[in-house]
Amino acid sequence: MKKHQLFFLIFLLVLSCKEKRTNLKGKENDLTLEDSLVIERLNWVYQLKKLTASEYWTDFNTGDFNGSLIYKSIKKSYIIEPNNNALKLPHKKISYDKGTLIKVDSLIGGDGYEMQVLAKSGDIYKNDISYEFPIVISSNVEKTKLSVPDVPSTEMWSTMLVHELIHNFQRKLGWNGKENEIRHLLKKHFVETPGFRKSVIAENEMVMKMLNMKEIEYQHIKDYLKTRKARLIKMPENIKNCEVVLEKIEGSGRYIEAKAMLTVEKVPVHKNLAKIDSLYKQGKDFYNFDIKTQGYLTYAGGKSSYFYATGYNLLLLLDKLDINYKNNVFKDFKKPLFEYLEDYINEKNR
Ligand SMILES: [Zn+2]
Repeated sequence: MKKHQLFFLIFLLVLSCKEKRTNLKGKENDLTLEDSLVIERLNWVYQLKKLTASEYWTDFNTGDFNGSLIYKSIKKSYIIEPNNNALKLPHKKISYDKGTLIKVDSLIGGDGYEMQVLAKSGDIYKNDISYEFPIVISSNVEKTKLSVPDVPSTEMWSTMLVHELIHNFQRKLGWNGKENEIRHLLKKHFVETPGFRKSVIAENEMVMKMLNMKEIEYQHIKDYLKTRKARLIKMPENIKNCEVVLEKIEGSGRYIEAKAMLTVEKVPVHKNLAKIDSLYKQGKDFYNFDIKTQGYLTYAGGKSSYFYATGYNLLLLLDKLDINYKNNVFKDFKKPLFEYLEDYINEKNR
């Protein structure tokens, strides 16, 4: 090989190495500041969910997001574990180590505030992103803060996400979401049926009283069951089933959300998140956190969505009585939470 040919070859080699490095660097630099913020927030949610589940609901500690999750930023939507319909949208793949992450150049569902699980059935929704698929859709922290003033930080927002993720988990275990479609009828029943609201409040107070007792007597449980059943017997079958299932679905959602609040201070500070997220308070708002400051968790009287609070209180009562329910409560969605109390009484009376 002639000298100048050798030089040329070396020159080409250097050039191609340089080219490779630039490509690599270019790929890393592909992440916008917003991409990084989303990734770091998701990492934080992931860790909060993992720590909360490992301490309070081990079956829920599955090492993933339990399904799809849409994060709505200002103008874009980020989707973790996108389903086939989501992948049909024009998107860009983003490198992420906790699952497939894509970015779509539009706000799925528009620019309104959202924090819920979607699942649609029926042929007209065949191309919908939530077609027969549980999918969590969440606004970013900034939008949530504006819409729900009680949520001032990334940490509090993350506790809401943990709530939504347990819905993904429930649906994976077989809940088909049908009761959600008649939720409005249950709310109407609460508002319009004479004596209904009063009884709901009385039942909830009975449970809360038991939560504050040192020793719970069987008679207290029996009184509660009697009052509750006297109300249920007057309800139309479909609305009664709706209450029973939603009390379990939303009660456990609220339960895990409350447990996540108790877990926030155990999550180590995420330095990368602290650098780019002004709404991340590094757990400071949760030092010596007192769950009693969140009165809405247990209060069932004010709103027609009372079943969040009644379900939450019932689960706390099952915990207090040492009743094992966590590994089978979602296997039979139609079994009411209060039936665990009945089983308990029957077992003790045997
Ligand atoms: Zn919920």
